[in-house]
Amino acid sequence: SDDLTNDITPVRWFRVNPLRCTAEKPVQSVVTELRKKFTEKVDSWKDVVPGSIYYDEYIPNLFCVHPQDKITSHELYKQGKIIIQDRASCFPAHILNPKSDDIVIDACAAPGNKTTHLAAHMFQDKTADEKPKVQIYAFEKDPERAQVLNKMIKIAGCSKEIEVIVGDFTKLATPQACPNVNGLIVDPSCSGSGIFGRKYIDSINHKKTDEEKEEEERELDAVPEEQEEQELDDNLKTRLSKLSSFQFQIVKYALSFPQATKVVYSTCSIHAEENERVVIDLLLDKKVKESGWRVAPRSKVIPTWERRGLVDEFQQVFREDSESSNCQEMADGCIRALPREDGGIGFFAVCFERTL
Ligand code: SAM
Repeated sequence: SDDLTNDITPVRWFRVNPLRCTAEKPVQSVVTELRKKFTEKVDSWKDVVPGSIYYDEYIPNLFCVHPQDKITSHELYKQGKIIIQDRASCFPAHILNPKSDDIVIDACAAPGNKTTHLAAHMFQDKTADEKPKVQIYAFEKDPERAQVLNKMIKIAGCSKEIEVIVGDFTKLATPQACPNVNGLIVDPSCSGSGIFGRKYIDSINHKKTDEEKEEEERELDAVPEEQEEQELDDNLKTRLSKLSSFQFQIVKYALSFPQATKVVYSTCSIHAEENERVVIDLLLDKKVKESGWRVAPRSKVIPTWERRGLVDEFQQVFREDSESSNCQEMADGCIRALPREDGGIGFFAVCFERTL
């Protein structure tokens, strides 16, 4: 699974899953239960110690505790009433902010953190009878990962509202197959450079066989250090360039949905190549421009979150005085989170919007 939190995470984030709570006030009932174990409420995630709890100020119904407090052994976790999810990873569904009558797509869904968060958002106030038809289409091209997605959706209690489609979003997601879609989240494969710990190391190294690794180590031994760094740099550059053209294509496809008015793009990368520069390339694209898409302003994208997009990246491309582009505004429309320093994984999110 992509449970990106592990023992070296500064804190462990989890959200209440209202879809598994039958009580009249689901969040409150879970909080009451949590407070029996976590008696002290602290004002910042940085102050969390074993036995205490922090209520997040940005994402509703999100909390964190100390990693030593094994939240996975709590009854609430076993019942699917709380779901472990890094804070920044909760940004996309919160930013898209779908309502109960919207129809949305999660383009790159497995293992399903954001998909089930979307469902929680849309159906939290609905009773079982009121939940009508499929309103979330979740695409996942890797069949094995799609199985994890299905499992997660089941645990979260939203199988009826979500249709899982195993295959390439850019091929299978047509306006005919998914009619009336008005919002999408696109969280495609990325370098994972915002993820610290083992997973990050793995993602940089791809999945190499032991023999390949040994051979590589031997080769590295043989090259002088400077040259070694240069080669690593070149490898990363090549990889980032491949990833960013894939990310561009998949978001561009999402922006082609005829009734879509909001598309949230996110990565767990810290590299501008996968973040601001993908946004810039999309803004420069003729078709995207013609369809009226722009970066949603800060006021609509968690305005109180301080760390925003890198303005330099926009300034390198757009002239400050050109008609349609205000670099500071565009950068402010983007959100960044630094690994560890901001309480979890490194992350990037932006929302494209338009009026039809
Ligand atoms: N959004 C997920 C979550 O929050 O749990 C994490 C998504 S992960 C970063 C990216 C996923 O996109 C991978 O599971 C990958 O297999 C899938 N993927 C990549 N390209 C795709 C495509 N063209 N269509 C559908 N899924 C794709």
